[in-house]
Amino acid sequence: MLDFYSETKLDDHKPAISKDELSDQQVINEIFRLKEKLKDKVVVLGHHYQQDDVIQFSDYKGDSLKLAKDAAKLDAPYVIFCGVHFMAETADMLTSVDQKVILPDMNAGCSMADMANNDQIEKAWENIQAATDEKVIPITYINCTAALKSFVGKNDGSICTSSNAHKIIKWALDKGEKLLFFPDQHLGRNTCHDLGIELDDMIIYNPNMLYGGVTKEQIQKAKVILWYGYCSVHQGFNAGQVKQIKKDSPDTTVIVHPECSFDVVQASDMNGSTAYIIDTIKNAPRGSKWAVGTEINLVNRLQDEFKDKEIKSLSPYQCLCTTMYRVRPRWLLETFRSIEKDQPINVIKVSDEVKENALKALDRMLQIS
Ligand code: SF4
Repeated sequence: MLDFYSETKLDDHKPAISKDELSDQQVINEIFRLKEKLKDKVVVLGHHYQQDDVIQFSDYKGDSLKLAKDAAKLDAPYVIFCGVHFMAETADMLTSVDQKVILPDMNAGCSMADMANNDQIEKAWENIQAATDEKVIPITYINCTAALKSFVGKNDGSICTSSNAHKIIKWALDKGEKLLFFPDQHLGRNTCHDLGIELDDMIIYNPNMLYGGVTKEQIQKAKVILWYGYCSVHQGFNAGQVKQIKKDSPDTTVIVHPECSFDVVQASDMNGSTAYIIDTIKNAPRGSKWAVGTEINLVNRLQDEFKDKEIKSLSPYQCLCTTMYRVRPRWLLETFRSIEKDQPINVIKVSDEVKENALKALDRMLQIS
């Protein structure tokens, strides 16, 4: 999950387990104590998919886009990012060089971001350029490594989020003849379909197969080339679950994230980003019933917050982001302790070269949207 541009290394900075063997409650109390003591120095950002015992410490809570915007406005010397690696990288790029962004556990990666590494991206670009003379615009979903953000910035492309994907993809298709969409095939397919592109005009480029598993002719014919990547959490939902809910409880509205597969999105009533899901349910009438296709910690929190509505997960199984789950209070405590000693661990640092092109792609996204 670490791209080779990160200056931090997992083995160097993995927090040591406290030798003093505090109980879980003592760990929580100690974090509260240090957070208060270091309040002028440290800001904690928490992603919606974090568990309650971690999210309770966040000064700012949100999805990856909101937290990136929050990070850009901060001036605290230390920003602890309770999320995953690519989010901390984005925060590092948006904060000043004097600020340090810290990820409590370096094992907190993102399985989807890891599905597009630098060698694979460069090889795919070479294969696609060799197959067609048409202008290909690369777009990446913000859930990716800084290296991929940098690649699209360098090649006239942009970043998108699940909120602005329609706008950004439309821009790319106006600007070029073909779209290469990283790394989430589902967001790419769902959005392109909404924009009127036929499924037959989209192909999958699988970096694990020779020449991406596609022929030169298929690349020439395609309008959209989707990277073979997916979110293991959202791909866990299926259309059968939507059908079952509709059968058992016809007045339940099914709302899902567009990282879910095409079949699930088509079968559901509504789809949109995390912020869209939260706002829709918040503004829904009392007594309304919802089945939500996204990460379970967020669904549980919605249930707790909006008790006047019936809210449940679309899946009977726990759809949990296991990498987010790795950020535990004990790691958070070690992070605070290291700051107290002025020897911060797990500092995420994106190289200047990567940062320059990645910021170009981020700026382009902001201009277009
Ligand atoms: S929910 Fe999916 S996209 Fe988000 S961090 Fe987890 S694996 Fe990555």
